[in-house]
Order: sequence, then structure tokens, then C-alpha cells
Amino acid sequence: MARRLSVTRRGFVLGGLSAGALLAFGSPAWASAPTGGPLTDAGPDIIDCAGWAARPNSDIVPIWNQRPVKILVHHTASANQADVGRGAADGLARAIQNFHMDVRGWLDTGQHFTISRGGFVLEGRHRSLEVLRLGKRQVEGAHCTGQNVVAVGIENEGTYIDQDPPQALWESLRTTCAYICTQYGIAPTELYGHRDFKNTACPGDRLYGMLPQLRSEVAGLLGQRVEGAQTQKASWPLLQPGDAGDTVLAAQYLLRDAGVPVATDGRFTPAMADAVRRYQVTTGAEDPNGILGGESWPVLARTVTRGDGSDADRAVDTLAAGRNVEAVPDEVDHPAWQRLLGTTGTPTNTAVDPEGPPR
Ligand SMILES: [Zn+2]
Repeated sequence: MARRLSVTRRGFVLGGLSAGALLAFGSPAWASAPTGGPLTDAGPDIIDCAGWAARPNSDIVPIWNQRPVKILVHHTASANQADVGRGAADGLARAIQNFHMDVRGWLDTGQHFTISRGGFVLEGRHRSLEVLRLGKRQVEGAHCTGQNVVAVGIENEGTYIDQDPPQALWESLRTTCAYICTQYGIAPTELYGHRDFKNTACPGDRLYGMLPQLRSEVAGLLGQRVEGAQTQKASWPLLQPGDAGDTVLAAQYLLRDAGVPVATDGRFTPAMADAVRRYQVTTGAEDPNGILGGESWPVLARTVTRGDGSDADRAVDTLAAGRNVEAVPDEVDHPAWQRLLGTTGTPTNTAVDPEGPPR
């Protein structure tokens, strides 16, 4: 039974929503979501650190006196295991914590929340849950450098490159996102994937491709309507070894434009990965891994003046010809690049934080 929640009366930030988005107060439809455990006035059931027997954090968890402005969706890139029980969920949370503390050297689990394939929602980093319940401040995470104090990070168990997430996970993800949006006044359009900000496949092509659906369904749970083009965020293509085509060719021209020698054959070979790595080293990418994604594209796709004879201009020509784009502006900036690349949408929230390296 849906119970009226006082938190839903707080109101929502509507930045990023165009006219026509419907806002309905006092309609906590998400409270009747089918999974995620029993719901109370305090929000959906989330297993806290004590509940899964977390180790103590090794240092004080930094808490920032600001609200997060977006949510980042990750996948754990672990096996799509069949065990969907509570024990598996607790074990997953412990395994991630051990990895983040013992291998990464962080003070605790990196992400704020974890969702198991069975749909159990668990607190990640200590204090994330109590701070979320209050809805005013942000626990510093370690899930995406540059986003750790402006974005809530959710790790979803599994690998969603060529498989869809299970229904139980999906329902818990949307319920959890809706609750976080409610608590912090985050618009349901402000849900992103890790790859929007980093050179990574995370959260996998399939789960990433479901983000427009997630934005729409979360909006629905909040009594809002966000549909069609409103659910599409501007992004950058993910290019990695094995890829081929005009987008790869354009990237090759852009690498040349940046002074990195590479063949212009439209094929993402190991040699091209080496070229991308060299480019990432020179541009200070966090992890020079040879994958071209949301961290390197915005630097690579510089503003180009049409007809200047540069390799960057050849990249524009390549995309304009290959995609039948008719109106290319004289100055090709990020939105124009994204139109050429076919990844346009409403502007991405590019807010970054000053917290430095993950800890
Ligand atoms: Zn990730």
C-alpha cells in the first residue's frame, strides 16, 4: 500500500526539464514499487553496512555540505550469477569492500549503494544511508573521479555488455533512483552512466542503453512525465578495439590533428589503441587505457572552423558525408560534434567536483 511520504513534499529541482514535464506533488507512486523490500516512511528498504557485516572504514568518511546533483549507474563487471539470495548480496558487498580497501587502498567501499541481481539494495560506503535519509549532504564516494562529491554512485551486480539486467535488479534500481531524486531534489533526467564521464564500457552497452527508459520510469514513480527526446542525454560514442567505421575514422583524424600519428583506415586496431593511450597520457587522462569514451572525447573533439584544412576538419567531413548531415555549422563545437556523431540529446550535466583523487 502506498503511504504518503513527507519527503515528497519537499519539491524537485526541474533544471534540465523542458516545458511540458509534469510535476505532481503528493503522489509517492514509487512507494508501491514491487521490490526492494518493505517500504516505510523512511523510504525503500536498504540494507545498511552493519546489515551485511561491513568492515570498519579505515579513515573518516568525508561528508560534504552540499547535495549531489546527479546519479551515476555502474555495473560491477562481475559474473551474472544465478544466486539471487540475500547471502549472495551480502557476499557481494563484502567482496567489493575488500577489493576497494585492500587493492585500491581506499578508506571504504567506493560506491554509495550496491544492488544485487536479486534486487537487494545495500549501503556501500559507510554513512551513505543516514546521509541520504536526511537529504541535505553528500558522502564523498570513490566511484568516478571528478564526480565523487556531486554524484551518487550505484553499483549494479553483473556485466551488462550483451545481457539485460534481471527484472528484480531493474525494479530496485529505479526505486532507489526515485528515492535519491526525491531526497535531494534531483531531476529524473540527471541519471548517467559511468561512461558519460570516463573512458570505460561501464555500465555495459545494454544497461547504458536502458538509461532513457530508466529516466522515464523514475519520472513516472515521482509522478512526473519525461518521455521521448527528454530522456536522451548528449553523450559521446564508446570506441574500443574491434570497432570500425566512420566514427573510428573521424577519431583517427582527430588524433592526427592532436599530433598523434595513427593510420586513417577506419579500423580500431591494437595500434590505434596504442595511439589513444599516448593521447591519453599527454592529456592527463586518469587511466590511459586505449578506450575512447566520455573522458577523452570532449578533449579530442576540439572546436573546428570549417574549411581550415586541418585533420579535425577532415573528421567533420568524414562524419558529415557518412551520416548525411546537411547543415554543419561554420564552427563545430561540442553540440555540433555530437549531432555529427549521432549522440546528441539534452545537455549533459558537466558539473565536476574538486575533491581530487579517489580515497
Ligand atoms: Zn563504473
